[in-house]
Amino acid sequence: MATVGKVIKCKAAVAWEAGKPLVIEEVEVAPPQKMEVRIKILYTSLCHTDVYFWEAKSQDSVFPRILGHEAAGVVESVGEGVTEVAPGDHVLPVFTGECGDCAHCKSAESNMCSLLRINTERAVMIGDQKSRFSINGKPVYHFLGTSTFSEYTVLHVGCLAKINPQAPLDKVCVLSCGISTGLGATLNVAKPFKGSSVAVFGLGAVGLGAAEGARLAGASRVIGVDLNPARFEEAKKFGVTEFVNPKDYNKPVQEVIAEMTDGGVDRSVECTGNINAMISAFECVHDGWGVAVLVGVPHKEAVFKTHPVNFLNERTLKGTFFGNYKPRSDLPSVVEMYMNKELEVDKFITHTVPFAEINKAFELMLKGEGLRCVIRME
Ligand code: NAD
Ligand code: ZN
Repeated sequence: MATVGKVIKCKAAVAWEAGKPLVIEEVEVAPPQKMEVRIKILYTSLCHTDVYFWEAKSQDSVFPRILGHEAAGVVESVGEGVTEVAPGDHVLPVFTGECGDCAHCKSAESNMCSLLRINTERAVMIGDQKSRFSINGKPVYHFLGTSTFSEYTVLHVGCLAKINPQAPLDKVCVLSCGISTGLGATLNVAKPFKGSSVAVFGLGAVGLGAAEGARLAGASRVIGVDLNPARFEEAKKFGVTEFVNPKDYNKPVQEVIAEMTDGGVDRSVECTGNINAMISAFECVHDGWGVAVLVGVPHKEAVFKTHPVNFLNERTLKGTFFGNYKPRSDLPSVVEMYMNKELEVDKFITHTVPFAEINKAFELMLKGEGLRCVIRME
């Protein structure tokens, strides 16, 4: 290809300042270096994590920055040493990686790769600590090693899952973060048994991915908890059988759930990022066997407070990034679940906008409207 080894000039949505609309700019994208891959993004979508780092209220961020981590694309060129993917391969970028060599990658239980695990502070490439994006020679920073709000981006090869080329990229782009995260949090971490009760806190795409996991695991009751009553109608399509809005009660939601379930749910999955919801999600599981899983990204100063007796009473608290999936090894099989019609993905995509209107996706998420807004790059 004519672009191999050269700088590519293309459009990217740049976050210049916290909370200010993104600006579509012409950026220069340097060629991939050792163990890196340059990809053409075809579809990307907005996840709440992007919004936290754009707002930079509950998180520290760096500007100017190219956000975005939920996406699908095609490999344009590869750097030295890359053998896993080749130009033309269809890939999903992932915000946490898999080097394949460290103790975590060799463990069957962990996806917390020592080299490529999620790092929200790093704004440059791991290899040379430099950015591959620039405008008039000045660097524009990376986000989560993915920066998918750009027509072209550069990633470490360990942050790319090579997927079935038949999979429609406009749909499976949403599997590169939110839905797989929720799904895996239930299937791989909470592990509900057939006939069990599961509470899901937060009915956005991540929470409804968790509900989808509960349905696949054969749970008989899925209790959805959300402060936004508009979420409830939509959640029915995802197998959520009952709804609780904490605002409707003058007692803690964990007590409401304990009363509904004769002592507590068997499993709970928290997908809000709110510390009080995290505590409620733990305290609403049944003593003796209940397991709670935290998924939401907490405020930088959040502190989890509960009485230790809640643990002595044999409740378990866990947390997970990316639903415990190893991005390279496991994500292709999540795409296959969609291709085999086991997993429904289309219903998560409630809006689509052209790249020029990317700020609309932010407005929708801030208003709590819809689940995923897919941004078409072309
Ligand atoms: P979203 O904004 O679409 O959905 C969040 C939902 O939680 C909303 O419907 C909101 O009304 C609800 N909510 C907020 N506070 C609540 C409370 N106190 N009680 C009940 N409901 C409450 O967001 P999303 O994209 O689905 O992401 C959900 C969370 O998961 C975010 O915190 C995001 O950063 C996090 N996340 C984590 C991972 C991971 O790997 N651990 C990956 C992706 C996203
Ligand atoms: Zn995400």
